[in-house]
Amino acid sequence: EKPTPRYKRILLKLSGEMLMGDGKGGISPKVLTTIAQDVKDVVDLGVELALVIGGGNIFRGVSGATEGMDRSSADYMGMLATVINAMALQDALEKIGVDTRVQSAIEMHQVAEPYIRRRAIRHLEKGRVVIFAAGTGNPYFTTDTAASLRAMEIHADVLMKATKVDGVYTEDPKKNPAAVKFKHLAYIDVLKRNLKVMDSTAISLCMDNDLPIVVFDSTQHGNVRRVVLGEEIGTTVGG
Ligand code: UDP
Repeated sequence: EKPTPRYKRILLKLSGEMLMGDGKGGISPKVLTTIAQDVKDVVDLGVELALVIGGGNIFRGVSGATEGMDRSSADYMGMLATVINAMALQDALEKIGVDTRVQSAIEMHQVAEPYIRRRAIRHLEKGRVVIFAAGTGNPYFTTDTAASLRAMEIHADVLMKATKVDGVYTEDPKKNPAAVKFKHLAYIDVLKRNLKVMDSTAISLCMDNDLPIVVFDSTQHGNVRRVVLGEEIGTTVGG
C-alpha cells in the first residue's frame, strides 16, 4: 500500500553545486544517478514534480562580472549553464524510466521546449517531470527566484530547496558548532536576519504569495521522499 504524500505538486530546486558532488565543478555521474532515483521515488508516489536546476557548477554571472565581464552577458552564460545541467538530469531520469520534458526560458528548439506555463502543467498532470531551464530568462536574477516564480505559476504546494545542510541555522554550523537549527521560520525573519536560505528577491516573492519553502539536506539518499511524506527533517519557512 502506498503511503499518502503531504503534497500533491512540488517544485524542487537543485543548485548546480548539488550536481558536482565532491568535485570542484562539472557534473558527477554518480550524484546524477542518485538524484534521479530520489526524483523517481517521489514520482512513484503519484506526486507531480517540477524541477528548477541551477548552474553554479559551470558558471555564475557574478563571478564573470567580477572578472570584468558585462553582468548581463555573464548572467546569460549562467542561464545557458543551467540548460546543460537540465539536459544531464533529463538523461539520467529517462534512463530509469521517468518521462521528462525540459522547458527553457531561453528558446532553444533543438534541445528543449520553450517555457509555456499551460503546457508545463499539462505535462505534470500526465505524470511527467518538467525541468525548468535557463532560470527566469532574465539577467540579474537567480535560479532561486526562478524556482519561486515557477512554483507560483504552476500552483505548487511547496518549494523544496535542496541543500547540503539539514536546514537553516542561526549561523553557519560549519563555522560555529553552537549554531542552532530552526524548525520553523518566518519569511520576514529570513530577510531581517539575512539568513542564507535563498536570495531576498526569491524570499520576498514567496512571502508575498504565501508559498511555503522547505529547506532540507538532499545529499542523504531518500530525503526528498521523507519531506514529501511529511517528515519534518529540515526547516520550514512560512508566514
Ligand atoms: N541566472 C540569471 N537569471 C536567472 C537565473 C540564473 O541571470 O533567472 C544566471 C546567473 O548568472 C546565475 C547563473 O545563471 O549566477 C546560475 O544560476 P544560479 O547561480 O542561481 O545557480 P545555483 O546557485 O543554483 O547553482
